[in-house]
Amino acid sequence: MILAGLTLEELENLMSELGATKFRAKQIHNWIYSKSVSSIDEMTNLSKDFREQLKSIASVTDTQIKIKQVSKDGTIKYLIEYPDGECVETVLMRFDNRANLTACVSSQVGCAVNCSFCATGKGGFRRNLTYKEIIEQVLTIQRDTGLKVTNIVFMGQGEPLLNLENVLKALELFNNDFQIGARRITISTSGIIPGINRLADSDLQSTLAISLHAPTHDLRKQIMPIENKYPLNDLKNALLNYINKTGRRITIEYILIHGFNDMPQAAKELVYFLKDLKCNINLIPYNSVIENDYKKPSVNDTMKFKYLLEHSGKKVTVRLERGADIDAACGQLRGRA
Ligand code: SAH
Ligand code: SF4
Repeated sequence: MILAGLTLEELENLMSELGATKFRAKQIHNWIYSKSVSSIDEMTNLSKDFREQLKSIASVTDTQIKIKQVSKDGTIKYLIEYPDGECVETVLMRFDNRANLTACVSSQVGCAVNCSFCATGKGGFRRNLTYKEIIEQVLTIQRDTGLKVTNIVFMGQGEPLLNLENVLKALELFNNDFQIGARRITISTSGIIPGINRLADSDLQSTLAISLHAPTHDLRKQIMPIENKYPLNDLKNALLNYINKTGRRITIEYILIHGFNDMPQAAKELVYFLKDLKCNINLIPYNSVIENDYKKPSVNDTMKFKYLLEHSGKKVTVRLERGADIDAACGQLRGRA
């Protein structure tokens, strides 16, 4: 049996089966989620005999770090392997404020959405991750660095809203077991309307981020095949409904691709599309992916685009590129060595 991924209640049930006290469950819980140990032997406040008993039926984890790469900006990328041999990538980002450690987690092995600018989509879809496999990514980071993750973004491989059951269960564990507040968690989606509707009806405090990337149906469908299934008009209605029901501000993500969607005309169309949406905008200068020939926007065009959006009264940030030297930046994760 694997202990990582068990809730306090599940650990208490296990302890009662083993004839141990509830307090042992608390101790083990603390070793798993706060101290992030990788073996039962490290749980030094349990008696040796009890550790042996526990070891005969359980271990802490069954995932492994296959490759670890450290970027010159401090970003760390892990290739993690699950027992069935499937791998995903997880990225740890440190921002200037050292107190903030953000884990970028994957929700699926591969992705079926197949956006033209993204490396993950290129390998196709392999399978969903279970909630235990999702939280193992954060535990892996904590075990390896000895640090506690403070923020989580579902911006790794996969489409979280196509694996919503497991994502929601992982969120519960992040909240209750890792003590990472829902407000410190962001879920990013390519615009899966049924998933957005489900989130609208839940009282989740996390941030919803939408990968919009183009302001019109014709432009968006050239880079995101999902636009044919969930077109912008319908997406807009789903977002209005979400904002209306939850009262929450959403984040709009927009990749700037040189000569495709970074022109002033596109900025004006985007302002029009967003005009009655309560949102912040995150501009992501395109990161190069070998399989295509899109180009990065110039700094000048990026600033002009930002200015036009700000002029409409929205808050706009330009995402800092992290870990590009180790292919850990947005869209560069592919889940293999
Ligand atoms: N599947 C979800 C979650 C992944 S998030 C989604 O698409 O929202 C990954 C973010 O990085 C998304 O906003 C995605 O559109 C963006 N991205 C993908 N490829 C990129 C690239 N080559 N350069 C910059 N950003 C990219
Ligand atoms: Fe999938 Fe997101 Fe990549 Fe599109 S950008 S292929 S939805 S992971």
